Amino acid sequence: MAEESLKVTNFIRDIINEDIKNNKNNGNVVTRFPPEPNGYLHIGHAKSICLNFGLAEEYKGRCHLRFDDTNPVKEDVEYIESIKEDVKWLGFDWGEDLYFASDHFDRLYEFALELIKMGKAYVCSLSADQIREYRGTLTEPGKESPYRNRTIEENLDLFERMKAGEFNDGEHVLRAKIDMCSGNLSMRDPTLYRIRKVRHHRTGNKWCIYPMYDFTHCLSDSIEGVTHSICTLEFENNRPLYDWILDTLGMDCHPQQIEFARLNLSYTLMSKRKLLELVEEGHVTGWDDPRMPTISGLRRRGYTPEAIRDFCGRIGVAKRDSMVDLSLLEHCIREDLNKRAPRVMAVLNPLKVVIINYPVDGVEEVDALNNPEDADAGKRKIPFTRELYIERDDFREDPPKKFFRLAPGREVRLKYAYYIKCEEVIKDKETGEVMEVRCTYDPETRGGWSEDGRKVKGTLHWVSADRSIESEVRLYDHLFTKEDPSDIAEGDDCRNYLNPDSLTVLRSCRVEPSLAGSLPGSRFQFERLGYFCVDPDSGENMPVFNRIVSLRDSWAKIEKKIKEG
Ligand code: ATP
Ligand code: MG
Repeated sequence: MAEESLKVTNFIRDIINEDIKNNKNNGNVVTRFPPEPNGYLHIGHAKSICLNFGLAEEYKGRCHLRFDDTNPVKEDVEYIESIKEDVKWLGFDWGEDLYFASDHFDRLYEFALELIKMGKAYVCSLSADQIREYRGTLTEPGKESPYRNRTIEENLDLFERMKAGEFNDGEHVLRAKIDMCSGNLSMRDPTLYRIRKVRHHRTGNKWCIYPMYDFTHCLSDSIEGVTHSICTLEFENNRPLYDWILDTLGMDCHPQQIEFARLNLSYTLMSKRKLLELVEEGHVTGWDDPRMPTISGLRRRGYTPEAIRDFCGRIGVAKRDSMVDLSLLEHCIREDLNKRAPRVMAVLNPLKVVIINYPVDGVEEVDALNNPEDADAGKRKIPFTRELYIERDDFREDPPKKFFRLAPGREVRLKYAYYIKCEEVIKDKETGEVMEVRCTYDPETRGGWSEDGRKVKGTLHWVSADRSIESEVRLYDHLFTKEDPSDIAEGDDCRNYLNPDSLTVLRSCRVEPSLAGSLPGSRFQFERLGYFCVDPDSGENMPVFNRIVSLRDSWAKIEKKIKEG
């Protein structure tokens, strides 16, 4: 598993290889994926999952799934369950190693007491605003809190009373006593604990003080015996604090924090907070809306775990932030589905074709290949009848140059069936809209080939009119019109760049009868149209399909150009 994510050598593997050579950590590799259960996972998390679980597999180590559940205000069990489901679906297994930061709350409290006793932490009674003010800026040193020199006894007393619930939210915090003049803002007496009188989804009402991320994270890593704590670049400045806490407490296990660049994907957002806003404000139908960059959205859209892992392997791991083009992700799913998605015929915008020289009640079955890329995929039968549907776009009354499809007097191939020739166009008298095209077929061209070597330029997909199934098809486009919707001027709002055309619903589509009863999650290539997946909204008599991706592959073109120099 995860073979794809390991192809690329990266600087993290170099570090691990070096550690193994030096027998650091007795040669063990233990990583972790530490999501905060405050939303659904997105494709950025997939990068971190593939990296952490992938490295553990490669080095025969372990990867923990640890919920960083230190902020009960924003967290929910729904998110815990969805995160577990998504990690499993991506193809990874944490085995016995499922942890919650909240499992460590008792020990974290003991560590906090220890810091107080060492004179390395104090209870500060400044307000949140004052603390911010006292912190200083990148160019100015901070100011020491007037509470900084409380005695150890006073600090122990206050901290215990904070825990006992004697104070209100915000009245006091526990801070590390480090250096208010440090050039690194995270070292200016960072907050370790705060009062939050809220119920926690796992510890109930046991606690009303909760540890901060910086305090919790390094100690959880250490308690669990993690060797390599891999996180995104925004934590680089927190690394000295990570090390300070573990060193000051003299922890036996001191994992190495390593930072890598987070994934940014064009035309979408990678922030649970912002994605939650889209859900709550109804800009999308839910976390699993097929337009969302969430794992559950991509799954519903029809993406496969293999394609996502392949993508995560190709983007690699770097030290510098960059924007990855969405067309690379699309390329990965096309490559995967090209190999395994069965081909079927479907018409999205039907135009009726009547074969005037075909018997009124005639039906015959023509052979169609299930997948030309897969010799074992075999063939199936599709019914051919007098009345058919073709794509409205495949007919033009006044064809422009280079339009090789159907037009008055012109002959084209119906794939796997016959050559047909357009004899007459029936139009709505009032609107002038083309209602029906009347054609003749050539019985000598069965299978779609002419014995006399007569060539046609166009090959169209089609379905039988009365033997096809009515269905709904949902077409998706970028969620945002702006390449980087997170890069906006002050006062502007990413919502201003939501794409009004991100969803198009087509309700009178027709698909071939072999698709009857297809289960949600089944994927197909609709010939000439793209890859589609059956949506859970499908009814017994009305299948609903999501277009995963069209057939046009702009990434493949880019790759080809690069190869050709
Ligand atoms: P968000 O801003 O979306 O909430 P987060 O970093 O706060 O992201 P966490 O739940 O804390 O979300 O993330 C769990 C892990 O996933 C962390 O190790 C984090 O670094 C990693 N991660 C989050 N977003 C990305 C991304 N875009 N690319 C790579 N890794 C990411
Ligand atoms: Mg976070």
